[in-house]
Amino acid sequence: MNATFPAAPELIEWHAPRLGPLLDRFERDQALHTTLLFTGVEGVGKKSLALHFIHLLFCDRSIFATVEEPEDSLFGAPLEETPRTRVACGECGSCIRASRGQWLDLIWIEPETDEEGKRLGTHKIKPFRDLKEKLGLGPAEEPFRVVVIADADRMNQESANSILKVLEEPPKNWLFILTASDSSRLLPTILSRCMEIKFSPLDPERIFSILKRDPSSEFASRRAKVASRAAMGSITRAKSCLEEETWELRDRLIGLLSNPAAEWMRLIESISTGQARLNLTLDLMETLLMDLLSHRIKGDAHVWIHEDQKEPLIEIADRLGWDSTRLIRTLESIAERRRHTGLTLNAKLLAQEILAPWMERP
Ligand SMILES: [Zn+2]
Repeated sequence: MNATFPAAPELIEWHAPRLGPLLDRFERDQALHTTLLFTGVEGVGKKSLALHFIHLLFCDRSIFATVEEPEDSLFGAPLEETPRTRVACGECGSCIRASRGQWLDLIWIEPETDEEGKRLGTHKIKPFRDLKEKLGLGPAEEPFRVVVIADADRMNQESANSILKVLEEPPKNWLFILTASDSSRLLPTILSRCMEIKFSPLDPERIFSILKRDPSSEFASRRAKVASRAAMGSITRAKSCLEEETWELRDRLIGLLSNPAAEWMRLIESISTGQARLNLTLDLMETLLMDLLSHRIKGDAHVWIHEDQKEPLIEIADRLGWDSTRLIRTLESIAERRRHTGLTLNAKLLAQEILAPWMERP
């Protein structure tokens, strides 16, 4: 399961208000939309928030808990008076199971990833077939049986059609949570069944604070500052920005701007080694260009993403003399190239195309 539990407090604080209307409606009408769609940029925390929400759904003391029969409380106070909370209690049976990673009544479906667990593939059909076999069953222990389809925008036609039939007639007390960074890739017939909850990109301060929390990431303050700004609101992207490979590639891209003839061929070789590397190059070019653009527009008032490279970048900006129209056009052409990196093309040719805007001279 590719999600963090419990999610960082910064993440919950930022995203949880999005769930407020859902809780309000449940408290008022005891009704919950059966298909939720969590959208937002990749790595913003959609899956972690899904687990956070499921934790609350399952908690025995939450507003979602099933009210027990009166005979269970022969001598105690009437159960209706037990306060129900909008935050998981952390102490009941369900909460303790969650803290041990035991999620009864949760079915988690996610796409396959590559060996390093980084690059996402598409969903395989098998989990969807397995799901169909369980449809006759109600929740075993919790008030709901929850199915999470993580990265639902990576379902192929077959999986999408298979789940559509289920969503059209969801079994009683089943709840579906889909997550997607690009909801335009979902079938319109699936979209129309979903209640969409949008998660906004995280701000750099929050990302910085989350990076500091993670003991697995080698925390170097200088890198983390750049990473939190270059992340575009995504924790995943921030973590990738901390890696050695990113720093090495960034230096080479800056080097290419300073000395095109010497670096060009070597860099093509180096970035055409795989999809992840091409994407990383585009991410870096984008944030470097944003620095140049914002410096051009705001001058000294600009807060640099690549703060540690401010001096060389100003020098490059002055020498290239690109105006803001030119910089915006280059950013657009990068966005355009990003759409093609998923295709199987000659990697070297693609690498040349990706670097082309860097090489154009006025
Ligand atoms: Zn609880």
